[in-house]
Formats: sequence, structure tokens, C-alpha cells
Amino acid sequence: MPNFDPKYNSMSLTTTPVISVEKTSQSKIENVDFSNLVFGKVFTDHMFECEFKNGHWQNASIRPYGPLEIDPSAKVFHYGQAVFEGMKAYKDEDGSVFLFRPDENIKRINRSSKRLAIPEFPEELFFQALHQLIELDKEWIKPGLGNSLYIRPFVIATENCVSASPSDSYKFIIILSPAQAYYTGEVKVVFAEKYSRAADGGVGYAKAAGNYAAQFYPTNLAKEKGFQQVVWTDANEHKYLEEAGTMNVFFRVNNTLLTAPTNDRILDGVTRKSVIALARRNGVDLEVRPVTVDEIVTAAKQGHLKEIFGAGTAAVISPVSGFSYKDITYDLPLQEDSFAAKFKKELTEIQHNLAEDPFGWRYKVM
Ligand SMILES: *Cc1c(COP(=O)(O)O)cnc(C)c1O
Repeated sequence: MPNFDPKYNSMSLTTTPVISVEKTSQSKIENVDFSNLVFGKVFTDHMFECEFKNGHWQNASIRPYGPLEIDPSAKVFHYGQAVFEGMKAYKDEDGSVFLFRPDENIKRINRSSKRLAIPEFPEELFFQALHQLIELDKEWIKPGLGNSLYIRPFVIATENCVSASPSDSYKFIIILSPAQAYYTGEVKVVFAEKYSRAADGGVGYAKAAGNYAAQFYPTNLAKEKGFQQVVWTDANEHKYLEEAGTMNVFFRVNNTLLTAPTNDRILDGVTRKSVIALARRNGVDLEVRPVTVDEIVTAAKQGHLKEIFGAGTAAVISPVSGFSYKDITYDLPLQEDSFAAKFKKELTEIQHNLAEDPFGWRYKVM
């Protein structure tokens, strides 16, 4: 058994179900080319699964990664009652394994679940599952800046019934995928003028599966014009810049860093709040306030817009090389001393145990 951080080793752990473990007889790791990983395509040997039925979470198990057998009438297929998370584990040169602010992810999946009428998952069982699963598959985590293990917890509604009401049963699953620092190529974005990803009172702040499906069509339209992503604006007036599809966004106007405050349309990203903390520590002039399309377009025209970058767990920080608004494209030449590069370096060094962790963000798994 791994050691638990005393913070999570609460009394209730003794009452949570023990996780049954079935190990794979044949690891797949020998077949994986770790220097050539496509993000999210390869999965490790094991997965965690836990069922919710009769009013509580039960049958926690770790077993070989493989297909689920789910009835076609399961509610997740009809009403999209599903939420997920994205987080990473890192290995240092000594073989120690760390998570980055994992308490934020379990709290957030439970906030997402609540909004989707899904029962919350016990925090201590989540940590126990992560410990045991990562311990089993730790060979899949490679040391070195950029290498990581992407962790995908998710919850799906499994009741076999097509009536439009919340499911009475669910599965909470965790799968693991080895990841490399990926070069996203040039990222050019379109500021949304017509479509929206989230509305007031909606589910934008939740990592709800349906939020992503709804973005694919408008994002495809942007791709046809040579842009990779959409920066979503407020649904009412398309006046305020909110966030990208899977990343929060930052704007640097001269030496001031701007980002929108979170609200019920914007996902409260862990990377976003970490960048904000690093910016404050660095004494960067930072404004967390609504950012208008107008001010950014004006700044770009006047040469004051220095950078736009996205912040999210998968790519950490993604510099944006240009944007389009009302069919005019504005280029953003790479900066010598970019905030994007600086914060990416500081963040990844903390994540990989290569730098001090003054914020207490690293969580040692083993
Ligand atoms: C996951 C996500 C983010 C980034 O959150 P992190 O916690 O930094 O990974 C930003 N926006 C959306 C819509 C997301 O789904």
C-alpha cells in the first residue's frame, strides 16, 4: 500500500470500500514508442472503475484497461449526462512521481457533477484510486521536462432508460495516457462573432462532455479558414473575450497581462490560476477583469498587443501567433522575452520537481 498524504488520510477512509485489483497478465508497454506519442491515443495497462447504485458508490476496482459493456439505452448516450477531468502526473530524475494540485481536480469534477445532477465522488476514494492506479502503471511515466502521464477521470450515466431524467446509476472511471510535450504547431484563433460555447446560467463552468461536442462545428468552420481554435466571446453581445475551447486565455498589452474573471460561462482552470499566481510572484502588472474584443483589436492595430496565449493542462501554455476578427487577420510576431515562455518554464519546472514549490502545488504520490 502506498503512503497517503495525511491530509487525505481521513477517518472516512476506513469506511470507503477497498479497491479490488486485477493485474494485467501481459503489459502493453513494450509496444509503445514513447518518443512518438500522439496525445490521448495510447492508454496504460490498467483502469479504475467504481459504480454508483442504490444511492452510494461501490465496487471500486482496478482492472486491465479494456472495453466497457454498456446497454444502448444508458442515459449517457441520449442525454449527455457526463463530466470529466484532465490532470497530469510527472516523474523526476529520481523516480519520484508527483501530481499537480490534484485537490483542485476532484473538487472541480464534483462541482461539474453537481451541475449535471450527478452524485459527487468521495475525495478520499479518488486519492486512493489515483495512488493505486499510478503505482501499478508507474513505468508508463517517463522522466524529463515535457513527459507526463495524462490522467482522465470521468463520470457517465449508466441507467438503462431513455426517459429524460437524471440517471440512478453511474460509473466513475479513471484512464491514463502517456503524454509528451507536444508542439501544437502554429495556433491562430478566431474571435467568435456568431456562435457561443456557454451562456449565463448554463454549464460553461463545468467540464461537461456536451460543452465540447457543441464547439466542434464552429471550430471546423474556423479550421476551414486556416485557424485552429476559436476564442469564445460572451453569448449576449460577443463583446467580451472569454476562453478557448480547452484553455483559458491571457492577453499581454504592452507589459500588462489581462485575463477574464471566471464566472458561470468560464471554466476555472488550474493552469489559469497557477499562471495568475506566478504573474503576481513575478511582479507582473496583472488585471483580472472583463477583456473586450474592442480593446484587444485596438491594441493590435496600435502595436501594443504583444501576446495572446492559452493555458490548460494538456498543452500547459500555447502561444497564439495571430487572430482574426471581422475577417481581418492580425499577426502576433513571437516575442523575445515572452510571458508565455517564462510562465511555461516556471510552471513545468515546479511540476517536474526541478524548482522550489513555494505554493505547495506538488503532491507526491510515491
Ligand atoms: C479543462 C479546461 C480548461 C483548462 O483547465 P485546466 O485546469 O488548466 O486544465 C479551460 N477551459 C476549458 C473549457 C476546459 O475544459
